[in-house]
Amino acid sequence: MVERLGPPLDEPIFDELAIIGVGLIGSSVARAARKRNAVRRIVLADRSQETLARAADLTLGDETTNELKVAVRNADCVLLCAPVGANEEIGGAIAPALKAGAIVSDVGSVKGAVLSALQAALPAHARLVPAHPVAGTEQSGPDAGFAALFINRWCILTPPERADPKAVERVRAFWEALGSHVQTMSAEHHDLVLAITSHVPHLIAYNIVGTAADLEEVTRSEVIKFSAGGFRDFTRIAASDPTMWRDVFLYNKDAVLEMLGRFNEDLTALQRMIRRGDGDGLFDLFTRTRAIRMGIVAEGQETSAPDFGRRGLQADEPAS
Ligand code: NAP
Repeated sequence: MVERLGPPLDEPIFDELAIIGVGLIGSSVARAARKRNAVRRIVLADRSQETLARAADLTLGDETTNELKVAVRNADCVLLCAPVGANEEIGGAIAPALKAGAIVSDVGSVKGAVLSALQAALPAHARLVPAHPVAGTEQSGPDAGFAALFINRWCILTPPERADPKAVERVRAFWEALGSHVQTMSAEHHDLVLAITSHVPHLIAYNIVGTAADLEEVTRSEVIKFSAGGFRDFTRIAASDPTMWRDVFLYNKDAVLEMLGRFNEDLTALQRMIRRGDGDGLFDLFTRTRAIRMGIVAEGQETSAPDFGRRGLQADEPAS
């Protein structure tokens, strides 16, 4: 799939954007925002000096610092791009240094817990508009990012009830400039939807790859050698960042447990079909699931090409 960002905007959406956490998502935002002239100036902050040095080498921003207060002091938008579990601490650290009326947003994969943590940590003048770009890869760090990551992907905004509509509109415009389609919903609903579309699938992948690794009757070299039989696709997901995914399960516990309960019931039904030789039941289910895949491809959220079409996407948009 060939996808390109639009031409640079005449007027940037933000004067100064502070990105905290310059990993896959933070560096992709920096690259895309710069390409589209969506911000005048980008300040990058991270706890790791090595990451900041790499971000400077890649010229991802105009300034790099590991002092969060310095990073945010002139920002009209602060975007938290660290793992979900770090947001409360980061919120507390930036709170005293935020410019009056600054917009604070994030990209976390869990929204309910982040919303409560940030609402408690931030001063009343800050305008909080949490966001989740539903786009990513299994890689991490500033070298893994690329400007086209958000094109044609959904970005979900979960503004609190009394959010400033102007701030919500600017965050929406920002993600649209990066190529995303934007939808707004409650944090609670987001966490339920993402539990079944993202979090439980990751858990299943972690589990099946873990089970294969622990098998005694089948050797590890056989698992690797014959992986194209389906296992290989699970290993891609199970290679996702351990810190990020640990936090997802710790912070979206209730929704994940709810969806896992339903998953277990359906798995038991499948087990029964296999035991009883219910070929019609299996065939019906597999036909319905194939149609879901075709629907995702038809909506442009996936290509029918093998390897998820990602190689072509990255090749088309150079990393910086
Ligand atoms: P990543 O590549 O690992 O980057 C995270 C960065 O944040 C790292 O540079 C990390 O530094 C830094 N960091 C961690 N704690 C920090 C702190 N207290 N203060 C400042 N910087 C800190 O992770 P990512 O994939 O970009 O994920 C970032 C966020 O995006 C997560 O909240 C995740 O839920 C969300 N998200 C991810 C995806 C995806 O597919 N990856 C998709 C959508 C949303 P160290 O290297 O020192 O740890």
